[in-house]
Amino acid sequence: MPDSRVVGVFGGTFDPMHLAHLRIVKALRDELGLVRADDEIRIIPTGLPPHRQLAMASNEDRRQMCLLTMDGEPGLVLDDRELKRARFCYTVETLAELRAEVGKETPLVFLLGGDSLTHFHTWHDWRHILDLAHLAVAARPGADLAHGLHPAVAQLLTENAEKPSRPRLSHGKIYVLSTPPEDISATDLRMRLKNGASTEGLLAEPVRRFILDNRLYQ
Ligand code: ATP
Repeated sequence: MPDSRVVGVFGGTFDPMHLAHLRIVKALRDELGLVRADDEIRIIPTGLPPHRQLAMASNEDRRQMCLLTMDGEPGLVLDDRELKRARFCYTVETLAELRAEVGKETPLVFLLGGDSLTHFHTWHDWRHILDLAHLAVAARPGADLAHGLHPAVAQLLTENAEKPSRPRLSHGKIYVLSTPPEDISATDLRMRLKNGASTEGLLAEPVRRFILDNRLYQ
């Protein structure tokens, strides 16, 4: 059977999307070799209910900032299915939907930061996620994958860890990426923007301009 295309998935609030997000997406692409013309990495901003938007950027603005961050990067695709629903969607629901769309053979890889893996055991139906997709984990400052994981997640990692390479199976492995941790967070960025502090090197330049032009996070 010929090798299948591979689909990467990166979900987040992206409020705003920042350069550490972009860095780990590129690490996923490079370390797992998602460079075939039909491979893609879907960036999926979370849909938020309108009442959560008071203190944050709107769904449409978050979508725009993702597009501006991804601009020119081969293989990255914005998938706005969760925004269209304008409600929070569980990762497991979105992965089940994607699995149905790509078919059962295509490798799906869900990318997350190390901090997310430390609370993975609190995610809805988390044990089912590896039945749908692989995980790719990127280190994040403050998240200790050696000691900070819930025992059940640590066991999952021990049993399923795989050296990063292009996936052949459709799901079930955990790839720990080797990209060095980068200390950028959306919460810190929103604070900086509110206080007029520098955001140099933290956001893509077109995103920084978009935020200033639209007076976001004031
Ligand atoms: P906040 O600071 O408000 O929590 P965030 O910067 O973590 O936001 P999210 O949109 O919540 O951004 O994150 C989406 C995904 O990106 C999550 O899996 C998160 O773990 C990962 N991520 C975010 N920042 C980093 C980083 N600096 N290094 C590695 N992973 C990151």
